[in-house]
Amino acid sequence: MMAQFLEIKQGYPDALLFYRMGDFYELFFDDAVAASEALDIALTKRGKHLGEDIPMCGVPVHSAENYLLTLIRKGFRVAVGEQMESPEEAKKRGAKSVVKRDVVRLVTPGTLTEESLLDARRHNFLAAFTVVRDEGALAWVDISTGAFHVMPLPPVRLGPELARLAPSELLMPDDQERDYAETVSDFGISLTPLSRGSFDSTGAQDRLCRLFKVSSLDAFGTFTRAEVAAMGAIVDYLDITQKGKLPLLRKPQREAADRSMQIDAATRRNLELTHSLAGGRAGSLLHAIDRTVTPGGARLLERRLSSPSRDLSTIQSRLAAVDFMVEQRQISTDLRDALRRVPDIDRALSRLAIDRAGPRDLAAIRNGLTQAEQIAETLENADLPDLLADSAGHLTGHDDLLSLLDASLVAEPPLLARDGGFIAQGYDTDLDEARKLRDEGRGVIAQMQTQYAEQTGISSIKIKHNNVLGYFIEVTATHADKMLSEPLNEVFKHRQTTANQLRFTTPELSEMETRILNAGGRALDIEKRLYDALKTQILDRASDLTDTARALSELDLATSLADLSIAENWAKPRVTDSKVLNITAGRHPVVEQSLRKDGAPFIANDTDLSGDPSSIWLLTGPNMAGKSTFLRQTALIVLLAQMGSHVPAQAAEIGVVSQLFSRVGASDDLARGRSTFMVEMVETAAILNQADDRALVILDEIGRGTATYDGLSIAWATLEHLHEVNRSRALFATHYHEMTALAGKLSGVENATVSVREHDGDVIFLHEVIRGAADRSYGVQVARLAGLPDAVVARAREVLDALEKGDREGGAQPKAVIDDLPLFQFSVKAPPERTDAIPTQYRRVADLLEEVNPDDLSPRDALEMLYKLKEAS
Ligand code: ADP
Repeated sequence: MMAQFLEIKQGYPDALLFYRMGDFYELFFDDAVAASEALDIALTKRGKHLGEDIPMCGVPVHSAENYLLTLIRKGFRVAVGEQMESPEEAKKRGAKSVVKRDVVRLVTPGTLTEESLLDARRHNFLAAFTVVRDEGALAWVDISTGAFHVMPLPPVRLGPELARLAPSELLMPDDQERDYAETVSDFGISLTPLSRGSFDSTGAQDRLCRLFKVSSLDAFGTFTRAEVAAMGAIVDYLDITQKGKLPLLRKPQREAADRSMQIDAATRRNLELTHSLAGGRAGSLLHAIDRTVTPGGARLLERRLSSPSRDLSTIQSRLAAVDFMVEQRQISTDLRDALRRVPDIDRALSRLAIDRAGPRDLAAIRNGLTQAEQIAETLENADLPDLLADSAGHLTGHDDLLSLLDASLVAEPPLLARDGGFIAQGYDTDLDEARKLRDEGRGVIAQMQTQYAEQTGISSIKIKHNNVLGYFIEVTATHADKMLSEPLNEVFKHRQTTANQLRFTTPELSEMETRILNAGGRALDIEKRLYDALKTQILDRASDLTDTARALSELDLATSLADLSIAENWAKPRVTDSKVLNITAGRHPVVEQSLRKDGAPFIANDTDLSGDPSSIWLLTGPNMAGKSTFLRQTALIVLLAQMGSHVPAQAAEIGVVSQLFSRVGASDDLARGRSTFMVEMVETAAILNQADDRALVILDEIGRGTATYDGLSIAWATLEHLHEVNRSRALFATHYHEMTALAGKLSGVENATVSVREHDGDVIFLHEVIRGAADRSYGVQVARLAGLPDAVVARAREVLDALEKGDREGGAQPKAVIDDLPLFQFSVKAPPERTDAIPTQYRRVADLLEEVNPDDLSPRDALEMLYKLKEAS
């Protein structure tokens, strides 16, 4: 057996081998050590190899999926080695033969299909990237839905695309892997190097043609060699991991890089599109706007949000679909009710294709089609906009398949085909007959028990069943003598004695058993055959069925966005082919929702960056005033509009934005080992090098990561470059008040500030964005609010006054001003003043403690004191 294990393992050096032994998958040697640690299960030993103990651990087959998921999440790949014959079959080949085993599947992050291992509401992409003669290409597939895409991709854009798609696994030729390893690891994607052969474009062409049964790929469009190579690698890899059972792949769709808004990885992170900066989904834009009711709809929403369009007609047709649902409330409500009952057709289909499905997947298709019919009826007489009319057209046309599934399946089939019981009564006469015989047999056995009780006079006699003996008759040991002597021993043949029971059989019972087994086995065979026939019928129509699934997702998305718009009081944006960006009373959807939980209102603000030739707002104001919120809400509103959604504003006109950039100064990025300032500059450089006059740029406190004058100079030059060279629309938040002077010098730059009011030396944030420059930064006041000791606040004020005075009186150097300041005299003022930031109860406790001298206290006084302290706190 070990020899067999080692031989199989040799073929999968990079994977853990799950070696099937009866009801367990066993792991040996290093695999066992790694898995026992990763899964936190016991590591044991079994036998010896070359004189050493063999480490071993195992997981039960019935709960293997959970263990698999943990291993995959921890970055392992798992080869599943199954028994390819029964032990009896092995024995027939020779007494010492080992059961034949083989790997039936290689489980990797990008090739999961099990419902339990996948998040239903998210895609799971497997991607491949390669460069052929300086031309790059990225292909990606979701094997759980069959979606297959490809695009030409210059290597410099690999990062942003990986950020958009977030694949769980990326294939790359082993000789190119090193060049991109860093980019890939930044995104936490599992990188799988493949040999050049997998990426060979001629071989790839053949593989693809065979897979799609076409003689040339031209049928799907014109592809570059790199694109063909990347697609071919995916198909090759699926062949390796699925052991020849190829999933249902849709025809490859070529995605043009210039059809969607370009958003790089840092911008996605910053704007918290699909994940919050803290890492979870809560707090992200996606989480705040997701009202979809089907898994397919949820996945479509994430796709749209990750790649907003920049094609005017696409955007407008999507907006028209949402408008329709906003206006037609009755239709929309009916649709949502029906959609809630729509199962995941895409994933059911793909499981059917790779033979990992069960009767419930057949039922999912039936239930999905039933709902689709009903939805089609709801939409029948409506005057639908194009996108919805197109979707409605794909809902029907499955009459034959639907009546077949309706007639053949029970209402709620079991999970596994193996045990039968999913084909409805009355669908197949042979099956009905076999089942009748089987069930009658069971009835007869019940009668036999009564008959034996009479015959033997033992009322407690039972007929039971187990896997070893089959049906048998059982009596307690007290009746042993009677059963083992004449006349009963002539009828009842003794089979087994256990501690308290005796077991018997009769020729009559054996015969009945055979009949039941035969009938039961026959019923199972028939069901299996019918299952296969239904599967084939479904797969024959796979392409139409995916169209239906897609149409249902589209309807779900339109109704859910309409629901959102009404519930959150959003407005339809006007998207145009201009350079306007004019938002009236815009809000930040995520901040608004979270403030609402605390009962606080969100202050809406206008944005107008519609100037010519360029339009930039320079935003100053104290920390905590709402600058970042305002910046981000503008970007989010643009993004929502271009994905085809209504927007959180009273009104908005948006000239299509081609690229979106958002940067926040000096956020810590220690994990990547770069200094914060370096990160900030690399990111700023990327914007200045790429942004064009259709870009929207959001810069939040760029330059704050370095010394004041350095930072100011960099921010200054960056703003000038954006204005003069990039000519992008931009919002630029800064705490360098000196920059407000730029508004007078550059025609497209305007000052704006977030208003605050001062009251008794405190600042009150009004969160209102108004034109003009902030008169001061209120940093000292904000620090006071944060609980900085009064002494420090007072001292900071002194320094600030002196610096400002120096400035006013002829620009004395800050250093000189500071040299002249009297030294900070903490010691003179001891004990330090207590501040408001110290909760009063602690102050009371401190006061009490100050008065006591422990040496003077009697034990009784001490106890008294303790009570007083407790009360004061
Ligand atoms: P800044 O960038 O100026 O330091 P933020 O944008 O981070 O300020 O905002 C600070 C806090 O103020 C936010 O967490 C939010 O609670 C609140 N806030 C910001 N903008 C608004 C607004 N328009 N209406 C209400 N509250 C707001």
